[in-house]
Amino acid sequence: MGIRLDEPLRKAVGDRTAKVLHTGLGLDTVGDLLRHYPRKYVKRGELTELSELEPGTEATIVAQVTKVSRRSMAARRGQMMTVEVRDAADTAVEITFFNPRAANALKPGMLGMFAGKVGEYHGKIQLTNPEFAKLDADTEDAGDSPIDNWAGELMPLYPSTGGLPSWKIARCVRMVIDQLDADIEDDPMPRPVRARQGLLTLTEAFRRIHRPDDWPEIAVARKRLKWDEALPMQVVLAQRREALKALPAVPRRRVPGGLLDAFDAALPFTLTAGQRQVGEEIEADLASEHPMHRLLQGDVGSGKTMVALRAMLAVVDAGGQAVMLAPTEVLAQQHHRSIVQMLGAGADVPMDLFSETAAPDAAPFDPNRKRVRVALLTGSQNAKDRRTNLLDAASGTAGIVIGTHAVIQDHVQFADLGLVVVDEQHRFGVEQRDALRAKGEDPPHVLVMTATPIPRTVAMTVFGDLETSVLSELPAGRSPIATHVVAAHEHPSHFTRVWERIREEVGAGRQAYVVCPRIGEESGSGEVSDDGSELVSEPGQQRPPLAVVDVAAKLAEGPLKGLRVGMLHGRMAPDDKDAVMRAYAGHELDVLVATTVIEVGVNVPNSTVIVVMDADRFGVSQLHQLRGRVGRGKWPGLCLLVTESPDGAPARERLAAVASTLDGFELSKIDLAIRKEGDVLGATQSGYRSSLRMLSVIDDEDIIRAARDEATPLVEADPALNAYPALARTIAVLLDPERAEYLGKT
Ligand code: ADP
Ligand code: MG
Repeated sequence: MGIRLDEPLRKAVGDRTAKVLHTGLGLDTVGDLLRHYPRKYVKRGELTELSELEPGTEATIVAQVTKVSRRSMAARRGQMMTVEVRDAADTAVEITFFNPRAANALKPGMLGMFAGKVGEYHGKIQLTNPEFAKLDADTEDAGDSPIDNWAGELMPLYPSTGGLPSWKIARCVRMVIDQLDADIEDDPMPRPVRARQGLLTLTEAFRRIHRPDDWPEIAVARKRLKWDEALPMQVVLAQRREALKALPAVPRRRVPGGLLDAFDAALPFTLTAGQRQVGEEIEADLASEHPMHRLLQGDVGSGKTMVALRAMLAVVDAGGQAVMLAPTEVLAQQHHRSIVQMLGAGADVPMDLFSETAAPDAAPFDPNRKRVRVALLTGSQNAKDRRTNLLDAASGTAGIVIGTHAVIQDHVQFADLGLVVVDEQHRFGVEQRDALRAKGEDPPHVLVMTATPIPRTVAMTVFGDLETSVLSELPAGRSPIATHVVAAHEHPSHFTRVWERIREEVGAGRQAYVVCPRIGEESGSGEVSDDGSELVSEPGQQRPPLAVVDVAAKLAEGPLKGLRVGMLHGRMAPDDKDAVMRAYAGHELDVLVATTVIEVGVNVPNSTVIVVMDADRFGVSQLHQLRGRVGRGKWPGLCLLVTESPDGAPARERLAAVASTLDGFELSKIDLAIRKEGDVLGATQSGYRSSLRMLSVIDDEDIIRAARDEATPLVEADPALNAYPALARTIAVLLDPERAEYLGKT
């Protein structure tokens, strides 16, 4: 019987080598080593001639060592070693090793292969700290030669540290592979999955990834090894879905003739097909005896609030309470205003609305009177309002409660919480959802909404425990939005035109936003935008980002003189913020100079222009969100991205991408490609993140989808994975103890 994956390396490679692999690379088991995949491969034919080395490129050369010299470094600890190598044409190149421990083996006369970045020092071509391998077949280390480990055309290069050259790793890997059974006993991939998906055996995949004959071999091996990452992840999520399915919930079945029917009958427009369909999905979920866990994705302006409100009304009709959480106070207040207003739109049905000033004895829902009390809870409320609203939530007097995440999570008790709607919080992780679930006796139904389009693959990983609905169309009658990049320094006249356009729109009765990256007058560095996200900083951005406070003052005195210019940012007192937002929504202001506080959800349909100053400081998705503030009414929208970044700079390409499409999904892909995957997975997914070596949540949609399709029935049939102990073990290792405990909790 061959060696197992979970066996310690010392059994396979001997004590001494095992120790080096442990200290140098943190590899302890046979499986660890085999999953230490090559970083890249070099092809024999791709060796670079010494005379053709170009600074700035990566190169692999074969040459003979002609001189070796070492000296101590003055400035740094340690030694420096200079090696001169020559090729057959007698071209000489210098190689410098700064920590020459690994290079000790290099002696004059020896043939070696060197791979690394080509540099230039005092006009001479140089390699610095390249990876190298001795190529002599007849050194005393016979059998250690990389030639022997280089079975095919391609030689693997490993991520190597700690004095462990790549070729030595290759040798260990070969030793281990030679001891594997053709079909490893503790292969975590269930055989039926392997067969259905046409995957290699693990032994074959390891052989091909580590000792490939050609590129196609590597590709097939990669597929199998990606599955090794995708399947456990999807199994964990499927287990979580199963666990959630087993939880009890109070079914909230639709009550005919209730608030929802009255609301629908009074709607001034027809629901989009998507809104209708998602509405039905939610209705079915709410009627179930297990809690709903649904993610609703819909691009900016697709009408998610409407869907949420209808769900909330259904729950209130059924006698429960609904809560809606917003990420910011501005948004919580706006939701409160617009929901009260939307409900009021059904004025021809007897639907009395009570906000925080309502009589405290108002019933949450009285089918005869058809009214629901909508309470607002934010951190900035005065103590009295807050107490009233908290009381109303606790007593059940308030049917709908709207507030910020922070306030609701920390302070509120409900009489009978039936539904939690989480708005615009695409990073609302598993833990937060659990905290909320703990609010009721039976867990409430949960609807998470996001406008930040999440590529399906990411939704399947980060939100893999949620069912997903998508609103893919915008309501009819949406106006087009034109986007232009304004290179302020290249075309001063275009920049002047920006302000003329605002004056024209205001002259026609419209309103405009001007967004700046920074608040101004701050003590901090100004590297962080108002919503806490980091501003983009790139070489070439000379001055600090523009600030709301400065720009508002300059515009009011200069190009926008005479217009009613207001200002909104996160450091204003909450009451002031609300007052400004109300004034703008009520058209008492023409222009709102703001930070990204207006980024998500703010809805003033009369706004037609949004000017983003220093647009290069914002990420792609942020710009798309900002742009969504216009084009919400009857008039075409205009989005002007003002930048001083030079033509051809990465920032300009990003802006051009935003200008080129209104498709949020397309843009989120561009955004993801720019950001690191770790960011995408978010803090709560740390366990998965570190397990992803080969699988890309961005590029491997097919595999992730197929893995999800395999995982779901597998877990349904055998939740504890009794039939697949190796897979169960892999998953236990994947989940850190904290997380394992956490899963046990649900
Ligand atoms: P988002 O999905 O960005 O949260 P909102 O819910 O704020 O979008 O909706 C944007 C605007 O579209 C609101 O003014 C809302 O009243 C309006 N709206 C929603 N659904 C429809 C519809 N079916 N037809 C027309 N307008 C709609
Ligand atoms: Mg919204």
